Amino acid sequence: SEEKSLHFIEQIIEDSLTNGFPQDRLRFRFPPEPNGYLHIGHAKSICLNFGLGLKYNAPVNLRFDDTNPAKEEQEYVDAIKEDLKWLGFNWSEELYSSDYFQQLYEWAVAMIKNGKAYVDSQSSEDMAIQKGTPTQPGVDGPYRNRSIEENLTLFEGMKKGDFPEGSHVLRAKIDMASTNMLMRDPLMYRILHRHHHRTGNDWNIYPMYDFAHGESDYIEQISHSICTLEFVMHRELYDWFLDQIYDENRVRPHQYEFARLNLNYTVMSKRKLLQLVQENVVNGWDDPRMPTISGLRRRGYTAAAIRKFCDVIGVAKRENIIDVSLLDFCLREDLNKTAPRVMAVLDPVKVVITNYPVGAEEWLEAENNQEDESAGFRKVPFSRELYIERDDFLEIAPAKFFRLSIGNEVRLKNGYIIKGESVTKDSKGVITEIQVTYDEDSRSGSGSEASQRKVAGTLHWVAVKTAVEAEVRLYDRLFIDEAPDSHKEKSFLEFMNKSSLQIVKGFVEPSLSDAEIGNHFQFQRLGYFVVDKDTTDSKLVFNKTVGLKDAWEE
Ligand code: ATP
Ligand code: MG
Ligand code: MG
Repeated sequence: SEEKSLHFIEQIIEDSLTNGFPQDRLRFRFPPEPNGYLHIGHAKSICLNFGLGLKYNAPVNLRFDDTNPAKEEQEYVDAIKEDLKWLGFNWSEELYSSDYFQQLYEWAVAMIKNGKAYVDSQSSEDMAIQKGTPTQPGVDGPYRNRSIEENLTLFEGMKKGDFPEGSHVLRAKIDMASTNMLMRDPLMYRILHRHHHRTGNDWNIYPMYDFAHGESDYIEQISHSICTLEFVMHRELYDWFLDQIYDENRVRPHQYEFARLNLNYTVMSKRKLLQLVQENVVNGWDDPRMPTISGLRRRGYTAAAIRKFCDVIGVAKRENIIDVSLLDFCLREDLNKTAPRVMAVLDPVKVVITNYPVGAEEWLEAENNQEDESAGFRKVPFSRELYIERDDFLEIAPAKFFRLSIGNEVRLKNGYIIKGESVTKDSKGVITEIQVTYDEDSRSGSGSEASQRKVAGTLHWVAVKTAVEAEVRLYDRLFIDEAPDSHKEKSFLEFMNKSSLQIVKGFVEPSLSDAEIGNHFQFQRLGYFVVDKDTTDSKLVFNKTVGLKDAWEE
């Protein structure tokens, strides 16, 4: 087998091991904020962090970065855990930044005592003006040199809830003239009188991401804290906050950045996905058109395909946009190996075999998956009246029409060769029935000479009498624009594809009547489909996952 070359983060880890870093101190984390469902971009980060855990036999924590009670909910915590498990990863510990609120507070108090933090009581507008610009240094504000005692008293008052939101903040005292804007006395705490999904009303102040994240990594003794490129400039601050608390006998975390996954024809920010949900543009976070893990799962994407996709795109240092067709390629590769083949007709027209005995029925042998011998065979009922796809018939065939027409023969998959004879139409000229004759010696697999006969094409079909009705949901991409959120003047909502969902009534072979929610199938010649969660005992619902590359994958 082929040896895969190391990606740059593996290379960094190999180098630190070579330089004496003990392997048993390697530790990683995946740190979602529970303010939305996970999306395919998160899968990239998940596969990276948990992949490193597996490769180096190191723990990977699931840390909920729950420092902003305004946007976080238990529903999201539960969904994130479900999605992670479904993707096939096991975390070592389930942890919450909110569990560290007391420790973080104590460190903040210590920083005040060391002259490294102060309470600022200005408006956010005034603070923004003093901050300067990338080309112009900031200036010190009037509260920068408050006494330690005053700072301690005010900070305690903030904690107790003595002050309204927006009246004070705690800032790190670093350098208002730093070339890195993020180092110009960044906020550490703000006042929020909010209910937190885990700490309730215990806190009236909440730490900012930059302060909480690195210190949480330190508490958990994360060796490699991996995030996306937009945090490159934050690294200096990450290191500065660690300098305030670091004990050299413990592991010092380091931040490393990789390129986030961008996919075309979709949006991936949780804020925008939430907007789609709240404005009912889609039917919830797990709508099969959503790029969320739960949406992809419901659409019929497999965990194996998503993992494979993340593997194929690799871990890059520079931003790029991945074509969504690569994900579909990985998906087809997986489903081709695993999905049983069945027959379904989604736009039915009736066919009557005039020389087939009335009332007769036979059970034909059908292979479940030619890619997987162990999948075996099943029986499919055949009788005088069948459904085929409306567009598999034309009265007069143009050149290269390899389907059914008057006077021409085709094979019915797993069955007989039939020949078009005549049609019946309604008053508007729409075909309501096609009459055909069959060659009774031509049954597939019978070994007869007629069964070997080559005909123009092979059609899928379902016998009318035993057909099971099903609702089938067909999807198109959600956006008509390759980069819907890249337009300065227009909202991404202006690029919605108005026909991204089409619902049809079709017929499936009776073996599908006991299919279960989440089961995958290849509807032969049509694509891959999955049983939707809206399925009940009396109603089968399928989602089209993805089409086939070729008409027949034989
Ligand atoms: P979004 O910006 O989509 O709302 P986020 O980055 O705010 O997502 P978090 O919950 O903070 O979401 O992310 C958890 C982890 O997943 C972080 O380490 C983050 O860097 C990573 N991540 C988020 N989006 C992507 C992406 N598109 N590609 C790779 N990693 C991502
Ligand atoms: Mg975030
Ligand atoms: Mg974000």
